[in-house]
Amino acid sequence: MPKKPTEKGMGKEDIKLQTPKGMRDLIGEEYYRYQGFFEKASEVAIYYGFQPIETPILESEGLFYHSVGAHTDIIEKELYTLRTKGGDRLALRPEGTAPIMRAYFEHGLQSQPQPVMLYYHGPFFRHDSPQKGRYRELRQFGLEVIGSSKSITDALVIRLVNTILTEAGLPDLTIEINSIGDRDCRPIWKRELVNYYRKHAKEICADCRERLKDNPLRLLDCKNPKCQTLKIAAPSVISYLCTGCKQHFKEVLECLEAMNITYTINNNLVRGLDYYSRTVFEISMAPAEGEADGLPLALAGGGRYDYLSRALGSKKQVPAVGVAIGADRVLAAPGVANLLPRLIKKPKIFFIQLGTEAKMKSLSIIEILRHTKTPIAHSLSKDSLSAQLGIAEKVNIPYAMILGQKEVIDNTVIIRDMRSRAQDVVKLDELANYLKTLKA
Ligand code: AMP
Repeated sequence: MPKKPTEKGMGKEDIKLQTPKGMRDLIGEEYYRYQGFFEKASEVAIYYGFQPIETPILESEGLFYHSVGAHTDIIEKELYTLRTKGGDRLALRPEGTAPIMRAYFEHGLQSQPQPVMLYYHGPFFRHDSPQKGRYRELRQFGLEVIGSSKSITDALVIRLVNTILTEAGLPDLTIEINSIGDRDCRPIWKRELVNYYRKHAKEICADCRERLKDNPLRLLDCKNPKCQTLKIAAPSVISYLCTGCKQHFKEVLECLEAMNITYTINNNLVRGLDYYSRTVFEISMAPAEGEADGLPLALAGGGRYDYLSRALGSKKQVPAVGVAIGADRVLAAPGVANLLPRLIKKPKIFFIQLGTEAKMKSLSIIEILRHTKTPIAHSLSKDSLSAQLGIAEKVNIPYAMILGQKEVIDNTVIIRDMRSRAQDVVKLDELANYLKTLKA
């Protein structure tokens, strides 16, 4: 048992000044890159009528067992669970769909006009072995359309991910799509799949022998070279789809074609989680040259989940479709755009103060600049003119504003054009108007 922080032997010397394995801090530029991406994705979602939602990082453990599925990697191997002092069993959320469906019922969203369209972003937790593109704390942006079974909503979700990723500077995308059928046709296909693999049980890898017992659809997910040949001849879902599923799939594909979105049908795509039905899809980028495993890294994945509501105890079936984009992978992808958040503005003025009185007055003057929405930089902790001018020159800011002792007495500031070195003395009560005349 690891020692508690209060136990003897767990002193300051035992504190490791590092983040837990597979998790990391986001600081400065990197933080802004995430924020910029989430802003861009939110902007697209809001335009299409999606509303924001934020659910807690912790949920009851049972929520994920009954939705994602007890025999999935996410639950069997990767779920972070804890027992609270009050005895509740909670889990760090590994994904966003189940919590959002929980929120949909908890807040009676079924009484609003349907479908309810929600977007979210934030951290998710999976106790996976950390490696490139695979973290234990991952960040996702997701969309959920809850309360419609119409194929146009599947197409809408795929369209929006495609738009978001393209606008994030990633045009070379591969969209793989499949239908895994519904409650009527899937069991027949599943039975055939199990029969087929049982006959070949000796030829498959150890993981697949487990999958055969617990989650047979995932046999088609196997990346082990040993299992690839068998996969080719496995019963293909497409031959088992019922009329309704076939029609739905056809409509989704027609919508994509009408939007000129190129896709590839991959009948082995199943997306391990229990709650999917009918449409499933994944979007990836070809690996960069020299990438070790050569497998394209999925940037986003999603699908239809018409039975999730029932799995969570609802009497009524609420059809839905959604997607999650892996922000960590998007932002690590070669060629990704540097999407800076809107609140970050390139400074126009470097504020310089000289002497104690000037330093004391600085924050009030900076407030004038803030009210006029003039982005500035400063170095208030520095005292000398040369130190401050040196920084202003280095960061390439077009103007400097200088406040010395004389200016404090006169209620003025000096504005210096850093390129021409021309200077103006400006009265404080005229400052706001003067700033408007400055070119960026
Ligand atoms: P999933 O629903 O599990 O397919 O997750 C959706 C997207 O999140 C994936 O396509 C990945 O881009 C991303 N993702 C999933 N797991 C991880 C992880 N462990 N680390 C980083 N990104 C991940």
